[in-house]
Amino acid sequence: MTAAPRDSALMTHLSADEVRWSNGFWSRVHERTRDVTIPQIWASLSDPEVSPGLRNFEIAIGEREGTHIGPPFMDGDMYKWIEAAIDSLETDPDDALAEQIENLAGKIARVQRDDGYVHTPTAISERNGDETTALADRFNFETYNLGHLISAGVRHYEVTGSESLLTLGKNAAAFLEHLAYDKPLDLARSAICPSHYMAVMELFRVTEDRRYLELAKAFLRVRDDFEDGGDDNQDRIAVRDQYAVAGHAVRANYLYAGLADLVLETGDDELRAVLERLWTDVVDTKLYITGGCGALYDGASPDGFPWQGEISRVHQSYGRPYQLPNTTAHAESCANIGMIFWSERMLALTGDAKYADVIERIAYNVLLASISLTGDAYFYTNALRQVRGLPFELRRPGDTGQQVVPSPPPSDERLRQGYMTCFCCPPNIARALASFHTRAASVGEGGLFVNQYGGSEISVARDASSLALREDSDYPWSGRIAFTVTEASGSLPLNLRIPGWSSGATLTVNGDAVSVTGPGSYTRVDRAWQAGDEIVLDLPMPVRALRGHRLAEEITGQAAVQRGPVVYCLESADLPDGVLLEQAAWRRGSALSPVQAEIAGTPVMALEGELQVLPIADSDELYADLDDDAVGTAPARFVPYFAWGNRGAGEMSVWIPVVW
Ligand SMILES: [Zn+2]
Repeated sequence: MTAAPRDSALMTHLSADEVRWSNGFWSRVHERTRDVTIPQIWASLSDPEVSPGLRNFEIAIGEREGTHIGPPFMDGDMYKWIEAAIDSLETDPDDALAEQIENLAGKIARVQRDDGYVHTPTAISERNGDETTALADRFNFETYNLGHLISAGVRHYEVTGSESLLTLGKNAAAFLEHLAYDKPLDLARSAICPSHYMAVMELFRVTEDRRYLELAKAFLRVRDDFEDGGDDNQDRIAVRDQYAVAGHAVRANYLYAGLADLVLETGDDELRAVLERLWTDVVDTKLYITGGCGALYDGASPDGFPWQGEISRVHQSYGRPYQLPNTTAHAESCANIGMIFWSERMLALTGDAKYADVIERIAYNVLLASISLTGDAYFYTNALRQVRGLPFELRRPGDTGQQVVPSPPPSDERLRQGYMTCFCCPPNIARALASFHTRAASVGEGGLFVNQYGGSEISVARDASSLALREDSDYPWSGRIAFTVTEASGSLPLNLRIPGWSSGATLTVNGDAVSVTGPGSYTRVDRAWQAGDEIVLDLPMPVRALRGHRLAEEITGQAAVQRGPVVYCLESADLPDGVLLEQAAWRRGSALSPVQAEIAGTPVMALEGELQVLPIADSDELYADLDDDAVGTAPARFVPYFAWGNRGAGEMSVWIPVVW
């Protein structure tokens, strides 16, 4: 089953029946997600000694005694895990997992009220005789949880045909409808991390029932009528009046992704233009080189009001343009995934390869960095620099007021964790990776579009034509990407993305050169395809040293190393004894050569060459005279940013001072 075509879409992304990772880089990630990540997250969520995730549902239905524990969005984290497991079922059928999901659907059904509302904190309070009111506090995340339940229901129906979760999702949508028409301000106030915007559009596509499209329109309408908002939740001013992205980055990216879904169905050109300018604002001025979104742990959004007392407090938030701190980068894993959701919808809407470029930047860098190479530990925040001796504690994901963390580790020992009390990110990472193959290619009026490389098999039919391809490549370590046509009829055009980072790309079909469009575009090949046709795209991958904008103060005088789509970093584990991270610099033009390496059992491409060693003493003085000693040299070894922090505690930096 596939979703109904979208009226305004130039492209529709493919289902797992049409595209898979079958070999190479992404198939290893896919297998790790299936074999390690999804079971490991469930082991946490279902063990009451570790997580209250399942326990809360069991208390809510009377199978256990107790009170609700954990953040109010924990139900949504359970639903996100279910969605990841369903994604896995689609590519790798598993009867036991399928039955487990049906059992969970049965438990959730027993918590859901007749009006469709389901929220374990409220259900447990009611069961324990405490007074409680739905939607009393916007930070109860009820609509966020309901959105994830709807999405899980849609995926469950699409993959298995079962309506057990879909029915719960429809009930939840009915509750949201009741809010939209009877309590619109309650609905607007509670739209925090609005997963329900995307969810009801998914429900519309799978049911083709226009009431869900009308509900999505109502979400936007009631939001714009809400007068007590702030920049943290993007509801200080109407969406159509917004010209810059501010506030909580997960909330922003989920909101705009959901609205892009709406535009895909309605063709609302005014809203489309708003989303294009907001997306450009992020990518041109606020996106980390790793693809991370949301620079600030805490801050203020001072531009909306002239008076200090009315400045909007923000947290886990986008900063001002070019405000991109490295050590204190927040870049929540959920925000980065939200940017993939937003970008893939904009790609479908416009067919512009720049959106696929950003998905690639996020995927190969911050998304993969948010999970350990072993697939069982996670980052909530994604720093670009980790240094010893930070004299304050960066708030950690466990610090939600639910659990006291007695002794914070030193700042250079922050490592991924298998479980954290604020558990929104791990199941989000799992579902993003379990479904990543669906982002590999799209189909539309213009033919087949290959958006992402890394070892796919694609098979699509459109109109009277069909085309099946197998990609063989060592991408992202090598830019030579070979496709073999395995089946074909008719002449479906093939469009290959030429990444924005590339230069000098070449393309051959059966050995004959085909002209290639510029970076950041799709090169279209029209041909009557035959089985056995060979298409070879060659993307040269020189090592590049990149600088930042003059206003990006935190990276002034520094460079980041990138090869192909992969951003590199320097870790203290690779520095010679006696060389401190802050001493390491890179001489402009100094060669770095790709070298096969292995980190935590995972093959990666390291870059080796020579570092400059600056004569900086290990000192805590705020200011000191420049040292007169000569600059030395030492062997350099850069590793992919996504592989950092997999060799124990240590220091790390993406940006390195440049010696000219
Ligand atoms: Zn998160």
